[in-house]
Amino acid sequence: MTIFQDAVNVRKASNVTTNRKEMKVEGNIKGISLNGNDCIIKPQVSLSSYTSYRVGGPAEWFVAPRSLESLEASVQYAKERDLSITVLGAGSNLLIGDSGIPGLVIATRHMRHSNYDCDTGRVTFAAGESIPALASAVAERGWEGFEWAIGIPGTIGGAVVMNAGAHNSCIADILVSVEVLRPDGSLQTMTCEELNYTYRTSVLQGSDLIVTQATLQLQPGADPEVVTARTKQHKKHRLATQPYHLPSCGSVFRNPKPHSAGRLIEEAGLKGFKIGQAQVAELHANFIVNCGGATANDIFNLIHHVQHQVQERWSIGLHPEVKMLGEFQAA
Ligand SMILES: Cc1cc2nc3c(=O)[nH]c(=O)nc-3n(C[C@H](O)[C@H](O)[C@H](O)COP(=O)(O)OP(=O)(O)OC[C@H]3O[C@@H](n4cnc5c(N)ncnc54)[C@H](O)[C@@H]3O)c2cc1C
Repeated sequence: MTIFQDAVNVRKASNVTTNRKEMKVEGNIKGISLNGNDCIIKPQVSLSSYTSYRVGGPAEWFVAPRSLESLEASVQYAKERDLSITVLGAGSNLLIGDSGIPGLVIATRHMRHSNYDCDTGRVTFAAGESIPALASAVAERGWEGFEWAIGIPGTIGGAVVMNAGAHNSCIADILVSVEVLRPDGSLQTMTCEELNYTYRTSVLQGSDLIVTQATLQLQPGADPEVVTARTKQHKKHRLATQPYHLPSCGSVFRNPKPHSAGRLIEEAGLKGFKIGQAQVAELHANFIVNCGGATANDIFNLIHHVQHQVQERWSIGLHPEVKMLGEFQAA
């Protein structure tokens, strides 16, 4: 059954019927299959391979659904067991604590589909679609408007939540609407205006809404070679100016406008400063990189050190752009 409500366009999700099966290895639960092999909830999954920092402890329970139905089943499973839900996209803007995350962690990175409307120039991408892959794909079609996004190693879901941006453009400039799954299992379409976008923020941050797909407005009909060349140029610039060769989360701090966080950190003499294996990048001071074997606590303590030094030197407070999840121990 589908119900549309005028004001908020709430669509009730189809009733979720799941075929649950527990898989055991020597008495321990190895996984719980909700919708066949498409959706297996696993216990104690290390999250370090699900974040671009390559740090983070285990999820108490973890699932990476491939379809909306599997996502709905996962949410329903958590609800029935009173498990908290944490959503990850590509984990490229996350610092997850070394002791991990309780409850169910849902990674949306495998939710993939795209639908191009050549008449309107609108394209709908599932939450798990990868931003760099999409930027290349739309350029190869000769669609303009997404060239700037090539260097952002996240998913559509994460980009919509974070209002990701680069080269003076951001998601808010091109977003038409998003579809979100609400905790009660209903699907809701929200317009760009309803997301209250400002610099790297949206109403979705800290909410319990899960982005399932987003519709963007692009401009078809350009020369694919020209759009591809522009996209590649953006990528080249990023590779030359930012440390893509080491694990990081991109820029750690928001720019305290009119200042640049990177410039303040650099002028405070912090380039190259290390705590454990976490280091303020030599190439770009607003990046903290994992030099190999850093813990989440190393990164956490380096973030605090940088904040403290910049506050002392410039009397300016730096606010993290990276989202921190779990527990951290201050040094
Ligand atoms: C090398 C590098 C360069 C970067 N450059 C840029 C840049 O130029 N500009 C920029 O803006 N960012 C940049 N980033 C940061 C990051 O890529 C973006 O913030 C990106 O949008 C995060 O997407 P994600 O899928 O990885 O989200 P995640 O990091 O997994 O999650 C970010 C937040 O979104 C939430 N979330 C993710 N998916 C969903 C969903 N489907 N539904 C609900 N909530 C969800 C998470 O709970 C979390 O709160 C960079 C990162 C790296 C590592």
